[in-house]
Parts: sequence; structure tokens; C-alpha cells
Amino acid sequence: MSEHDKIRELLALAAADALTSAEEKQVAEHVRSCIACANELGAWRPIASELRRLPTPQPSSWLVQATLARAEAKLTEQAEHDWNRRVMIVVVAFAWLLTIASWPVFQVVSGRCGSLLEPQFSHTQFSHTQFGQTWISFAAFTALGWLAGGVAAVMLAVRQRGERGLA
Ligand SMILES: [Zn+2]
Repeated sequence: MSEHDKIRELLALAAADALTSAEEKQVAEHVRSCIACANELGAWRPIASELRRLPTPQPSSWLVQATLARAEAKLTEQAEHDWNRRVMIVVVAFAWLLTIASWPVFQVVSGRCGSLLEPQFSHTQFSHTQFGQTWISFAAFTALGWLAGGVAAVMLAVRQRGERGLA
């Protein structure tokens, strides 16, 4: 690409004062020795000044409001998503804690364990079948705890969806 072609591409920008100072200098130098470019730059000048006189399109306040509202909705959605996840974690952790904490109580209630400080499985006379039964009931108890946690989570989710539907 020749110097002339390169400068020609810059002329419109030069007229609009949109060049870097280095480019501006290049254009000014070329125009001094090139009639064609000088004429073209002269033709661009009034167009550029007319363009500059046009009102700059301002984003309407309506558009700004709509964009802001959309951004806010997205943020809220994100926050809600994060909140839901946190609630899930808490519910699951709570179910676990509840299961573990209430297991000795459950044992006492079901009469399997006389003393909390002396769990049955440390007893020498603790038979194999009893041990198996204990684990089966523990598994059932854990499942129950998980089920309770799951039900709580589902209820929460349903309630939240209902609230969002009303909003
Ligand atoms: Zn030229």
C-alpha cells in the first residue's frame, strides 16, 4: 500500500479530528505535497463539521432504566441462586447433625442402650446379630433424617417459588 493510499484512508478521520498526533502529522505532511489528498481532505472538512453539529444520540432514560432493571434482575437471580444453594447446604448439614445428635436419644428411647457413656457396641457380650440390628436401625434412622431434610428442602423450594410467583 502506497503512502498516498494509506493517507487517503485517514482523511475522513483527519477531518473529524479522530487521528493520533503522529497520524495527524503524517497526513498534514502528505497533504502539503499531494493535491488529490488535499482536495479530499477539504471535501471531508465540511461534512465532518456538519456531523459534529448533529445532536449526539443520547441513550433515552427509558432505555437506561430498562437496562438497569434487567441488570438488577440478573443480580437478584444470581443472589437467589446462591441463597438457594446455601440453604440446601444448611438443610443437609442440619439433617446430618440432627441424625447424629439424636441417634443416642433414639437408642435410649428404643431401649437398646442403657448408658450413653457406655455404648452397646463396646460390650463384649454384644452379639453379632444385635450389632447388625443396630446398624440396620441406624441406617433406617439416617434415611429418616435425610428424608426429613429432603422434605424440608422441597418445602422451602416450593414456598420460595410461590413467593416469587406472587411478586
Ligand atoms: Zn495523496
